[in-house]
Amino acid sequence: MDKSLFSRLSVITFCSVILVACDPKSNNSLPTNNNAESTRISNAVDGWDYSMAAEDLKNLCESVISDAKISLTNIENDKSKPTLQSVFGAYDSMGLQLQTIQHVWYMKSVHPDESIREVATKCAQDYSDFGTTIGLSRKFYDRVAAIDISDLSKTERLMVTRKLRDFRQAGVDKDQSTRDLVRSLSQEITEIGNNFDQTIREDTRYVETTIESLAGLPQDYIDAHPSDENGIIKISTDYPDYYPVMQYGHDDNLRRALHIAARSIGSPSNSLALKSLIEKRHELAILLGYKNYASMAMDGLMMGSPENAKSFLDELGLAVNKAAQKDLSILRDRLEKINPDAGVIQAWQSSYLSNLVRQEQYALDAKLVRQYFHFDKVQEGIFDLTESLFGVEIIPWETNTWHEDVTAWELREKNKVIGRFYLDMHPRENKYKHAAAWGLRSGLAGGQVPMSGLATNFPKGLMEHNQVETYLHEFGHLLHNMFSGTQDWLDITGMSMERDFVEAPSQMLEEWIWDLETLQSFATNDQGEAIPAALVQKMNRARNFTKAMGTAQQLFYGNISLAFYSTPPEELNLLSSLKILQSKYSPYPYVEGTYFYNNFGHLNGYSSNYYIYQWSLAIATDMFTRFEKEGIRNQDVADQYRQLIFGSAGSKPAEEFIEQFLGRPFSTDAYINYLNNL
Ligand SMILES: [Zn+2]
Repeated sequence: MDKSLFSRLSVITFCSVILVACDPKSNNSLPTNNNAESTRISNAVDGWDYSMAAEDLKNLCESVISDAKISLTNIENDKSKPTLQSVFGAYDSMGLQLQTIQHVWYMKSVHPDESIREVATKCAQDYSDFGTTIGLSRKFYDRVAAIDISDLSKTERLMVTRKLRDFRQAGVDKDQSTRDLVRSLSQEITEIGNNFDQTIREDTRYVETTIESLAGLPQDYIDAHPSDENGIIKISTDYPDYYPVMQYGHDDNLRRALHIAARSIGSPSNSLALKSLIEKRHELAILLGYKNYASMAMDGLMMGSPENAKSFLDELGLAVNKAAQKDLSILRDRLEKINPDAGVIQAWQSSYLSNLVRQEQYALDAKLVRQYFHFDKVQEGIFDLTESLFGVEIIPWETNTWHEDVTAWELREKNKVIGRFYLDMHPRENKYKHAAAWGLRSGLAGGQVPMSGLATNFPKGLMEHNQVETYLHEFGHLLHNMFSGTQDWLDITGMSMERDFVEAPSQMLEEWIWDLETLQSFATNDQGEAIPAALVQKMNRARNFTKAMGTAQQLFYGNISLAFYSTPPEELNLLSSLKILQSKYSPYPYVEGTYFYNNFGHLNGYSSNYYIYQWSLAIATDMFTRFEKEGIRNQDVADQYRQLIFGSAGSKPAEEFIEQFLGRPFSTDAYINYLNNL
């Protein structure tokens, strides 16, 4: 479900299925003590008991949802005068009850025990269904509508009017039979979406090859992939297996085979699932008075409408086109040296050729770079950066977890716990395959501390520089949740700002991983030598090479997402539409035998709104202009950033707090200018 569609509780549903930046929107019903001394004990209070058996989790889930249903009935039948306190107070108490099972979204993606994942998945589904029930409660809506807002603060008025809008977007003011249909459609959509995601998550594909085809790959990779007794080596589509091959492997056939395998994940079953997801969402949108699902999904966001999204994507396309062609021609020249007849650059050749050009023209060797990025040092570096920028401390949190690879941490400020988080950073079977942040609960002013969890698939040893960037990006989401628990009400605290703002802070934070001082503070090789300044300089020179091509590819993804949800479903043929969009927007031709939409998980979570990545880059580029001017390690700017950008949470429209931070309105000029000059 999209943020614009339902109430706060349904936002949790949205959060559960999106692949990045989950929205932490609820709180623990159990008492939390912010007192530093008390925090050591508390996995029963603050953490989740990960040793819980599947049966116990099932019982817990059922009892929490059944209690919450009673709370909803009480809210509906309350005859007292509707005030902010009586209505939103009761609503928040219900949210607190539900918090006790908030972890299930994370668990269904990371728990190693299949029976737990199954129960967690079912629980998440029931939770979502209940969110739909709330969004369709006419009596609850009537009570919110009856609150006299004339004496309320601006923030409180915004909270009430947004809630009413969410209700109306959920169809609460429609007749009973329409409401019933909305409810059943919403349930189906969640279920189909969950299946779509699960298929991607559990589908790992393999390519069989031999030692000769691993030429070009780093020795530690080759060592980690021994041949079997028949001389066969299996390479999987999981990131740690996949990316080194795409980047370093000399064998064009191996890269091609692995690309096709990866882009076939989810096929064929996800084609049907996706088609059905798109149809049901369209039906829902029409029922609620929108012309298509994209219009519904953008209502209430910064972007506002699919038309705005289309012009935005087109504007960027225009700005980036020339530079993208330049990138391509450089790669084509390089490919012709290997194969004079090759002609067109294929998707599986791009990383490999880019890496060669970086080595030859920018004298940048990614293998040389990676020796400075051991996972442990990277993590320590990211912690140090957080501590020095924001004046906080990160220390181990003694609590139980679901796997020996998982670590748990507390964020402290002046010795007071202000947040807690889990890091599940390495790949294993049946685990979530990408990198994402989950909000496990949001903080409240003067109340409980926020909690988050990350899941990524980084190697335990040496990382690529782009993986370091991804780590910092996801950590940015986590910090956003840690620093946004500043408001008094669940509806406006934590990650309750517009969904199309949420990526911006994480994207801006990526800048630090290109900063010499930051890098030298943690990136050291086995001999303890810091990454040389000359190498960082080279990295920065090479940074923008292929950026335009990558942006064009992102615009292609944005256009898929927008087209799939704004075309009438009866006119939409997934494969032919993909081919048309690919030839129009992507730098690479379509590869026969691939079905990208079957594994493009964002088509469920982000639906039409994949534009968000580029939109928030535009915001991030604009916000970073302040750090550029006043210093990347300027603690005053960092503090204002924390207070205004993170701390405003959902208490005001995003464009207002961005303007407060910048001292002028947000503009896409900085980003357009950057693209024009690539
Ligand atoms: Zn993100």
